[in-house]
Amino acid sequence: MRWGLIGASSIAENHMIGAMRAVGDEIAVVASTTEARAQGFARANGIPRATNDIATVVGDAGVDAVYISSTNEKHCVQAMAAIAGGKHVLCEKPLAMTLADAWAMVRAAEAAGVTFATNHHLRCAGSHQAIRDLIAAGRIGKVLSLRIFHAVHLPDALRGWRITDPGAGGGVIPDITVHDADVARFLLGEDPQHVVAQMCASGLGQGVEDSAMSVWAMPFGAMVMSHESFTHPFAGSGLEVHGTAGSIFASGVMTQQPVGTVVLVTAAGHEDVPFSDHNLYVQGLADFAAAVAGKGQPAASGHDGVASLAVALAVREAAATGQRQTVNYGDAA
Ligand code: NDP
Repeated sequence: MRWGLIGASSIAENHMIGAMRAVGDEIAVVASTTEARAQGFARANGIPRATNDIATVVGDAGVDAVYISSTNEKHCVQAMAAIAGGKHVLCEKPLAMTLADAWAMVRAAEAAGVTFATNHHLRCAGSHQAIRDLIAAGRIGKVLSLRIFHAVHLPDALRGWRITDPGAGGGVIPDITVHDADVARFLLGEDPQHVVAQMCASGLGQGVEDSAMSVWAMPFGAMVMSHESFTHPFAGSGLEVHGTAGSIFASGVMTQQPVGTVVLVTAAGHEDVPFSDHNLYVQGLADFAAAVAGKGQPAASGHDGVASLAVALAVREAAATGQRQTVNYGDAA
């Protein structure tokens, strides 16, 4: 696969470029909104070409797929250009600022016959896959509840648009709640139906929320409790799934690294659950390549990206209005 990068971003530099090279892919070109930044990013990351014009990327016959990791408000227009150029697209979350835009991206990719995927990395983690397997195998019986702890301490390097700019898609809900929505959907195999929520700015957010707590009702009756923040230095992350026949306690698993622990507790006692420690982003890229080759589905599809955005939008609306929201999935149903 030969990639064009749209967005001279931290996630590209710190995770995705290495993962692309680890699966044997090449990076042909990077686009940034500024020429100098594109050139600097290309030099720093050994990318042969740089441009400030995305037409150069999407019109390049040598580029097979485009990875979009710009700020959130740019994803839609950039993805639509890439799809129009016949490129497969791996787009960062949240797919777009609105559900209508996210659906437009997915529908355009379907019409163009290109692969379109969302970079929800957590479902690629060995830990999450092991938890899903335990649930699917009935090891905890009927699922009653899922609790997600995803309150982190935002690194200094990421304290830009995320905490100051609603227009760029800042705020913890589009940043982290959207991932947690994908985790709940992945683990439980259903889409949240209704949400109640609270949000606040607890030290970092300027014009956007930096913390959120919400409760989601799942169609089969389980409840999900989800906590996201940018301001918690020592909280750690994790999730718990509780069922009629057992509970799963997963510690340190809401992360970009293949780390953490998973423990199953049943009447038989405590069981440490082994899981693969493969790189999450490498797994996502391998699944993407397989989908492009017609041999499977991306780890998280465009539909998954739409659904996680729909939940995040409902959480924000519920928190803003104080009213319980029914999640609007648009024409996903
Ligand atoms: P960054 O802030 O690092 O990059 C986003 C954009 O901001 C870049 O494309 C760049 O624009 C601009 N930018 C970045 N650094 C500078 C700088 N020093 N000076 C000027 N402009 C700069 O964001 P992230 O990498 O954290 O996030 C990018 C996207 O990836 C978001 O959509 C986010 O939600 C998603 N993300 C996903 C993760 C995952 O695990 N799936 C993890 C982290 C982020 P330009 O390209 O125009 O130069």
